[in-house]
Amino acid sequence: MSLAAFLLSAVLALSPQQVEVAARITADGQPECTLYLPDQTSLPCRPVITVIAGARVIGHSSGEVIRLTGAAVRRLNRDEFALLVAHEVAHYYLGHTASTPAAELAADRLGAALACRAGFSPAAGISVLRFAAAGRTHPRRDVRRMAILAAPCRVPAVTFAR
Ligand SMILES: [Zn+2]
Repeated sequence: MSLAAFLLSAVLALSPQQVEVAARITADGQPECTLYLPDQTSLPCRPVITVIAGARVIGHSSGEVIRLTGAAVRRLNRDEFALLVAHEVAHYYLGHTASTPAAELAADRLGAALACRAGFSPAAGISVLRFAAAGRTHPRRDVRRMAILAAPCRVPAVTFAR
């Protein structure tokens, strides 16, 4: 491995503290979901979190992979990071494959519940919305702020998609 590649791999990773935050949020994995492996073992359903290069704070969830930019790993405080990860984990749990205003608000609500259940403060992390762009797929920040702050601190009985 070249020195440049090593430095890049060192930068593009979650810190041990961030790994712990993500583990607390995903906890036992998606409720009522188990992965059965060919060797007869099984695993809870949890997304894989990877870090990609990027100077803007962005989280993205597709299928079983959550991608966070390097900026998201470096620039967020603990509660902001927890709320971002929880939002993306919520997309995974809810089986979202595309971004729509309804999907974003559902992920905001479930994500706030997941972050709060894990011991983080959605109210303290909500400043992460300063990085959120509104548009065709994402609701306005004040609408998202209300959805997050109104979410109860428990994971609601929702129908999970996977
Ligand atoms: Zn989203």
